[in-house]
Amino acid sequence: MLLGALEAGGTKMVLAIGNENGEILDRVSIPTETPVITVPKIIAYFKNKNIEALGIGSFGPVDLDKESKTFGYITSTPKLAWANYDIVGEIKKELRIPVGFDTDVNAAALGEATWGSIKGLSSGIYITVGTGIGVGVYMNGSLLHGMLHPEAGHVLLSKHSSDTFEGVCPYHPNCMEGLASGPSIEKRWKEKAIALADRKEVWELEAYYLAQGIANYILTLSPHKIVLGGGVMHQEQLFPLIRSQVVKLLNGYVKTAQIADIDNYIVPASLNDNQGIMGCIQLAKMELL
Ligand code: ADP
Ligand code: ZN
Repeated sequence: MLLGALEAGGTKMVLAIGNENGEILDRVSIPTETPVITVPKIIAYFKNKNIEALGIGSFGPVDLDKESKTFGYITSTPKLAWANYDIVGEIKKELRIPVGFDTDVNAAALGEATWGSIKGLSSGIYITVGTGIGVGVYMNGSLLHGMLHPEAGHVLLSKHSSDTFEGVCPYHPNCMEGLASGPSIEKRWKEKAIALADRKEVWELEAYYLAQGIANYILTLSPHKIVLGGGVMHQEQLFPLIRSQVVKLLNGYVKTAQIADIDNYIVPASLNDNQGIMGCIQLAKMELL
């Protein structure tokens, strides 16, 4: 069975054809310009590929409420050309196949839950630390939506006493995305994140902030697994720093077998950076069933 996958990002769109086993058979990437330019290219790619359904994992915020008049829309994004844009409707109109739709990070959580580190578990979260910070939540065997959908990259943190950086989030002076995303690292330390690999203090502060968010997710969501992906998490030295900070913050209060085995609880993404696109394949498959 052939299924289509569209990972819609703020800077690029990844388009792929896969099968029901999550195998990616073809993939292309195109820049995210305006809907007028980009959407016809998306439609042209998927047309005549014999896909039975398409799954879209999108940057947001998006409307996931099937009862809503604007279901399937990208809503209040600062990328103005895409604000209030009916991405599902416009694509469905041309391709005439079932279209599954969720946030980019929920799709990645679903990829990990179907084929990766969350497989076989009833819950887990996927956190991307890249240009932004986003959290996908897989809970009781399905993706968590709610009133909007989790926007847990913007949880508010306590600033480190030595940190005078004002953050990069236009909404919050002390949210996780503002203090710990790739752009925030680069603005605070005035260098590309990748060039800071040997600077211990950079990653200690990064782990200090990521651990605060993660401790809050453990306390509120109680996930069985925490998967961290995105460009910044290629700095593997972050993992032990984050784990020890999380244990310190929980301070013995949460006593579970998972926390006792923290090296297998807080883990890197397991699907070679394909968790997002594979999750979109699974969204397509679920829409078909
Ligand atoms: P996006 O979030 O746009 O989908 P990425 O997950 O690749 O894309 O995130 C890009 C951010 O991650 C940039 O801010 C960049 O500085 C940072 N980044 C990318 N690769 C690395 C790396 N190897 N080490 C540290 N930071 C990185
Ligand atoms: Zn914020």
